[in-house]
Amino acid sequence: MSTENPFENSRKQLAKCAAILELDDGVHEMLRHPMRELHVSLPIRMDDGSIKVFEGFRVQYNDARGPTKGGIRFHPEETVDTVKALAAWMTWKCAVVDIPLGGGKGGVICNPKEMSEGELERLSRKFISSISQIVGPEKDVPAPDVYTNPKMMAWMMDEFSKISTMNKAGVITGKPLSVGGSLGRGDATARGGLYTVREAAEELGIDLKNAKVAVQGYGNAGYFAAKLAVELFGSTVVAVTDSRGGIMNMDGIDPEAAFQHKVETGSVVGLANTEPISNEEILELDVELLIPAALEHVITEKNADKIKAKIVAELANGPTTPRADEILHERGVHVIPDFLCNAGGVTVSYFEMVQNFYMYYWSEERVHSRLDRKMTDAYHAVLEASKNYNIDMRTAAYVVAIDRVVVAMKDRGWI
Ligand code: GLU
Repeated sequence: MSTENPFENSRKQLAKCAAILELDDGVHEMLRHPMRELHVSLPIRMDDGSIKVFEGFRVQYNDARGPTKGGIRFHPEETVDTVKALAAWMTWKCAVVDIPLGGGKGGVICNPKEMSEGELERLSRKFISSISQIVGPEKDVPAPDVYTNPKMMAWMMDEFSKISTMNKAGVITGKPLSVGGSLGRGDATARGGLYTVREAAEELGIDLKNAKVAVQGYGNAGYFAAKLAVELFGSTVVAVTDSRGGIMNMDGIDPEAAFQHKVETGSVVGLANTEPISNEEILELDVELLIPAALEHVITEKNADKIKAKIVAELANGPTTPRADEILHERGVHVIPDFLCNAGGVTVSYFEMVQNFYMYYWSEERVHSRLDRKMTDAYHAVLEASKNYNIDMRTAAYVVAIDRVVVAMKDRGWI
C-alpha cells in the first residue's frame, strides 16, 4: 500500500459511485462503515521459551448478500485501516461476480519470514480461536492472502473444528485437497482473469493467438497467467519480471522454463536466450496484453501515456493510480479493473464452500466451466454499465457491485 490511507481511498471511490447511482445519503453513510471490527491480542510461546504478544484484526464489512468472505494477511506492516479497506473491496468483489457472500478481511501484525513453522502454527491456531465467536461457515469464512497459505488454512480449520467439537471444513477456504480444498483453486485467480481478457479481446477485435503478452510479477498469479495465456489462447509471452528484475525475448519465453529458473535461482533473471528488462520498462513494451500481477501503484501519471498495451488486466490489487486511470481511459486503453480481474480466487473459494456444505467434490472441468461462466457474466455486466453510464470500466465495476449490495440491503429491510 502507498502512504495514502487506503480506507480513505476506498471511501472516495464509494462516494464517486454513490453520486452516479444517486444513492440516498443515509445508505451511502451505512456503506462507509464496516459492520464489525474485532481486535485481538495473541500471546504465543516462541521457540526460545519467551512469550510474544501479536496483534490481530478481523473486519466484517457488509453481510447483506451473505456470510462475509475474505483472506487473512500475516504482514509486518499490517494496519487496521488497510484491513478495513480490503474488507470493503471484498464486499464489492463478491458482489461483482455475483456470489452470495459479503466482504471481510483479517490481518495479523507479524513477519512470517522470521518465524519458525512451529511458531506460525501456534499463531495460526491462536488467531482463529481468538476470532472463533464471529467466524463460521455461515458467518464469516477466511482464506489465504498475503503470506498465508493452504497449510495454515488446514491448521485453522482443525483448531476451529476442535472448538466446535465437530468437523467444520467450511469455516475456511484455500485448504489442501486432503481436508476439503477444491480442485482448481491454485490457478483460479489467473484463470479467472484470463477469461475476462478473452471477452475483452473479442469485444475489441484483438486476436489473442497472435498477441504479445507482458507479465509484471511472477508469483502465483503472474506465473499462472503467463502459462495459461499460452495454453488457453496460444499467445506469445514476450517478457516477465519479478522483484529482482526481468527477462525479455520478442520471439517468446517458455513460462514453465522461467518458473523452473525462478525455483532454482530465486529469480527469472538470467534465463537462457533472454535479455534483461526492468520492472519499469516492461510496462511500456509494445504488446497487446499487459498483466500487472505484482505491486500496487506501478502505472502512474508518469508512465500512463507510454503504455502501448491495448488491454491492461489487473491481477494485482491497485496497480493503477486514479490519475493514471483517467489517462488510460482517455487514450482508449481497455483496463480490466483489479477487483473484477482477480475475482477468480474468491469465486473458487465460494465453490469450495459449496462443496464443503454438500460433502461432494467436483471435477476440475466443472470448477473451470463454472468459473468461466461467473467471470464472463461479470465482465459483461461491467462492460454494459460502462456503456450505459459512459464511465470507465473501474467505475462501472463499482457501480454494478454497489448497486447489488444496496438491493440486498433494501430487500432485507435495512433501508
Ligand atoms: N484473498 C483472496 C482475495 O482477496 C481470496 C479471498 C477468498 O478466497 O476468500 O480475493
